[in-house]
Amino acid sequence: MGGRAAAHVKVSVPLQGEDTLAKRSTLNTGDHVMSYRAPEQEYSFLFDHVVGFDEVRQTDRFADATADVTTAILSEAGKMANDVLAPLQRPGDLHPARLENGVVRTSPGFADGFRAMADGGWIGMAADPEHGGMGLPMTLTAAVNEMMSSACLSLQLAPLMSQGQIEALQHHASDEIKAMYLPKLISGTWTGTMNLTEPQAGSDVGALTSKADPLGDGSYAVSGQKIYISWGDHDVAENVCHLVLARIPGAPAGTKGISLFLVPKFLPNPDGSLGARNGVSVVSLEHKMGLHGSPTAVMQFDQAKGWLIGPEQGGMAAMFTMMNNARLGVGGQGIGVAEAAYQHALAYAVQRKQGRVARQGGGTIVDHADVRRMLMTMKAEVFAARAISLWCAVAIDMSTATGDRKWSARAALLTPISKAFGADTGIAISEIGVQVHGGMGFVEETGAAQFCRDVRVTAIYEGTNGIQAMDLVGRKMMDGGEAAIHLLDGIQSAAETARASLPELAEAVWQATESLRETTEWLTDQTDMEMRFAGSVPYLRAFARVLGGAAHLRAALADPGGPREKLARFYILRLLPEHAGLLVHAQAGSVDLFAMTADELAA
Ligand SMILES: Cc1cc2nc3c(=O)[nH]c(=O)nc-3n(C[C@H](O)[C@H](O)[C@H](O)COP(=O)(O)OP(=O)(O)OC[C@H]3O[C@@H](n4cnc5c(N)ncnc54)[C@H](O)[C@@H]3O)c2cc1C
Repeated sequence: MGGRAAAHVKVSVPLQGEDTLAKRSTLNTGDHVMSYRAPEQEYSFLFDHVVGFDEVRQTDRFADATADVTTAILSEAGKMANDVLAPLQRPGDLHPARLENGVVRTSPGFADGFRAMADGGWIGMAADPEHGGMGLPMTLTAAVNEMMSSACLSLQLAPLMSQGQIEALQHHASDEIKAMYLPKLISGTWTGTMNLTEPQAGSDVGALTSKADPLGDGSYAVSGQKIYISWGDHDVAENVCHLVLARIPGAPAGTKGISLFLVPKFLPNPDGSLGARNGVSVVSLEHKMGLHGSPTAVMQFDQAKGWLIGPEQGGMAAMFTMMNNARLGVGGQGIGVAEAAYQHALAYAVQRKQGRVARQGGGTIVDHADVRRMLMTMKAEVFAARAISLWCAVAIDMSTATGDRKWSARAALLTPISKAFGADTGIAISEIGVQVHGGMGFVEETGAAQFCRDVRVTAIYEGTNGIQAMDLVGRKMMDGGEAAIHLLDGIQSAAETARASLPELAEAVWQATESLRETTEWLTDQTDMEMRFAGSVPYLRAFARVLGGAAHLRAALADPGGPREKLARFYILRLLPEHAGLLVHAQAGSVDLFAMTADELAA
């Protein structure tokens, strides 16, 4: 990565409403397309004091990720996010990707922005060095991905899709496919997509009907329609490689009968140059409430040539490699947007004068108690969600480095929590960001509303948050709750230690963890899965609350009397108590949910 400096992109598209805002001098934020500043030191603090990144560095596998390397990477990636990607956020919203005569044209500046991410080496950060990747820990990748999401979510989705595909191919593809595709995907010469969804098969992936007929030469003819495919086509790289779920003739119904295929837009020649156009086309692009810069395509596969990835009927397992990668990434997208929304709101609040304030200060709205409540909530929640996401990434790295089943179980447990809580945090915090801006949040020029519109999808795609919660209380508790209880043991023992210096905060975290343990035991006792599923969303949120409390407690210990202890006090004494109500909800069972008939719901 080192010397490859990010290219600078100039966007000369006039921004609608620019003049209007400048004229409203009393409402002006000063710099309405507020420049995002990557919180590099925040990640370093979390690495060093909260999520135990040192343990990752001490493994042979990741020994190169020294403190110096980490700092240099965060700084370099931060510069690119600030200077290259952030200026593309608004043009992407105002000038969505469009389909012209079957060809997708992306938003102004996106091709250069994508090239900057590729040339910086950021797509292949975690990828295998044998194929051109940097082989860095997922923890560092998660931090860099989050910065890029803060800066321009629509564009960051492109490399995120490639990263997931790279990981899936590394684990499940043949050596020939790896040699052909990985260097191109890692360098950003080509990009990757994931194709699961069909009109009748959304959350219920097993209902898909796309098919793949063997061609007798080891390849398959893939046919079917896929909908909502992110970056399904574009003009930012020369080829698009689709990972497509389909069924081979005679395969059983449901998820068990699904296989995975790699289907490129252009068939590569043996030397890697582009050959004939494959039978893949874009039917249309979706008109969405946000994320306008990301082309979301309806894709048609007509006898398109593809190659099996993983074994026949082993498609879901292979695709799950990509999906788990993307789930961590999508949670990070939520956190990234929350961070950017917070920075915007704070910049506005310290300038906007309104009302008499009782306490001494600059006389701006930042001195009103309720605005303070909003800003403190934003900052505390971003910290909590980020810590959970990085804890998950550390568990992934430790599992990769050691092969220890305990770490893979922890990563599996934390993945749905990171995804759903990261997304929920993005949605909640961007919504608070609008409120901090008052009326200026509701008009588009400040950018506060765009964060809300863009981030909303993170709770929907990559498995809805409801599906994540069911995964947590279902598959992830098939061990009888062992991984969860092990994690809670660690939190309680850290809280015991913290009692000496921070008794009030330590006690609150200890008690909340104890309540979560009791509910976890209740959940794992339920053999009727509907009883678990009925309370799964509040349970997941309560789990995140407790993890957030644990993270803030660690931060407070590292900064006695300082801002981090103050923030921890706010989180632990004001936000953490929410867990109690959530856990009551989690144990309420399913009977009430179905007590009213469908007719009574409509009455
Ligand atoms: C902008 C965008 C980009 C996308 N990108 C991609 C992509 O690149 N590749 C891809 O394959 N897909 C993509 N998707 C599709 C996305 O993953 C699906 O929309 C998502 O999985 C939900 O499926 P659905 O829309 O059919 O909703 P449904 O499955 O119909 O769900 C509707 C509601 O019912 C709930 N629900 C459904 N089943 C259950 C159940 N068993 N138990 C409890 N609740 C349930 C859901 O949680 C949800 O609240 C994208 C979607 C969007 C909007």
